[in-house]
Amino acid sequence: MIATNPAARVTSLVVLLTVAVAAAVAGPPPPPPKPTPDSKTPTAAPAFRVLVFSKTAGFRHGCIPDGVAAVRAIGGDRFTVDATEDASLLTAEKLASYRVVVFLNTTGDVLDDTQQAAFEGFIRSGRGYVGVHAAADTEYDWPWYGRLVGAYFKSHPRIQPATVVVENTAHPATKHLAARWQRTDEWYNYRTNPRESVRVLMSLDTASYDGSAMPDDHPIAWYHEYDGGRAFYTGGGHTKESFRDPAFLIHLRGAILWAAGGPNG
Ligand SMILES: [Zn+2]
Repeated sequence: MIATNPAARVTSLVVLLTVAVAAAVAGPPPPPPKPTPDSKTPTAAPAFRVLVFSKTAGFRHGCIPDGVAAVRAIGGDRFTVDATEDASLLTAEKLASYRVVVFLNTTGDVLDDTQQAAFEGFIRSGRGYVGVHAAADTEYDWPWYGRLVGAYFKSHPRIQPATVVVENTAHPATKHLAARWQRTDEWYNYRTNPRESVRVLMSLDTASYDGSAMPDDHPIAWYHEYDGGRAFYTGGGHTKESFRDPAFLIHLRGAILWAAGGPNG
């Protein structure tokens, strides 16, 4: 659900997202959105570029096309999106043109040593990472990545509704949310609790659903500054419906804007 927010921008964004995403997921892949002047935000920062990376070497989520289309649609006048599953494009030279790389339901060992080094350099140059859902089910043998994402996937129960406890509503990724957010997804358990090394934004009310392996404290979305750059992770995003949910999309947009270094979304 979406909390009342005094910022008309958020209200208009909800309408925009609902229309844009519905169009994006219903038809053929749309062309990348072009930045458009917005008379209401004359001081808006120039558009930056986001790379969505969704290579899978393990389980492949059927929602990946929906997720890519959604990230394209939410950029608005702030960012444009390229999407690839070709890890050979993750070179220092090519990454230099992006502000943020989104790992969208990647799984398994997706980057070789050279690509890993290029990505580490990208973060060290002050850029941003956003991991979505199975981004935590990725690169188990790359410790730097494990610290970047914050925690690795362990297991999950069946898809079901749960109550998300929004611990911090001051962040661009959560400021549109009420204190409790009811939504349906595949709720990951993690191998470790990341709370000591990241800033947790949301956790699960583990009494609200079946199957938490972290009953006392179950973070589900977090962020931190890491190795010179910024890293954000959200555990949602298994289902296609997630990428048609305006509240989830505003969450994702806020995550990308934060990772890009912007002060607000
Ligand atoms: Zn999943």
